[in-house]
Amino acid sequence: MNNTENATVIGHYDAKQLSKLRILLQWVLAPITILVIALGWKYPLLGFAVPLVILTGIIGAFINGRYVCGHLCPRGAFFDRTIAPISPSKPIPAFLRTKPLRWTLVFLLMGLMIYQIAQNPRDAYHWGRVFWLMCVITTSVGVILGVIHPRTWCALCPIGTIQAAIGGGKGELLINPDICRECKACENACPINIPIVKHKAEGVVREPDCLRCPECIKVCPVGALNWPDFSKQSGTEENT
Ligand code: SF4
Ligand code: SF4
Repeated sequence: MNNTENATVIGHYDAKQLSKLRILLQWVLAPITILVIALGWKYPLLGFAVPLVILTGIIGAFINGRYVCGHLCPRGAFFDRTIAPISPSKPIPAFLRTKPLRWTLVFLLMGLMIYQIAQNPRDAYHWGRVFWLMCVITTSVGVILGVIHPRTWCALCPIGTIQAAIGGGKGELLINPDICRECKACENACPINIPIVKHKAEGVVREPDCLRCPECIKVCPVGALNWPDFSKQSGTEENT
């Protein structure tokens, strides 16, 4: 693929504006996590926020990978808005991103959830309590893992793993190797610690966990990053 061509074809996004909107949206969504956790024991139906997010994430993955994790997930928003400012943001350990560990967690947590629901499947309040409990446990683990990086949990999250498997190859970020200076400002701004620069030679950031957010594009001093033009995406893919 001609990367200079990429820069011109796709340079119409306003990452700063998109970032502002994303942050605003996250400030609205983050309190939902706190509300569900704080009140779910008393109002178990609040727990149904969990399957709603799961479903949104899975449907969204067919369109644009982990976009929902980066923009619409209340827990992701909670990590970005409240944990990120106090987390040391060290690199997420590579072993936490390994497929065997992640898929073990998918089957373990999904299995546990189904088993718990099966204990009283006719009671919607019971379902709500199970969802709430799963939310409390996994969010607590996520907060603790914030001592490494604010989104360490998101590298492991079963729904994130499923989304990456479904749509991780869709709408991948493009990097122009002709103008990238390897300053790594993009990597420092990335909410989920994606190693962007290692994909420089390839011209495409082939990282299924990328959240499709505007943060790296916003900070790149030379405009080396951008999204593919969806209307022309099939054409550019043919040229790769
Ligand atoms: S911020 Fe831009 S120039 Fe710097 S490493 Fe990332 S892509 Fe390259
Ligand atoms: S690589 Fe860029 S688009 Fe992907 S999650 Fe990181 S900052 Fe967002």
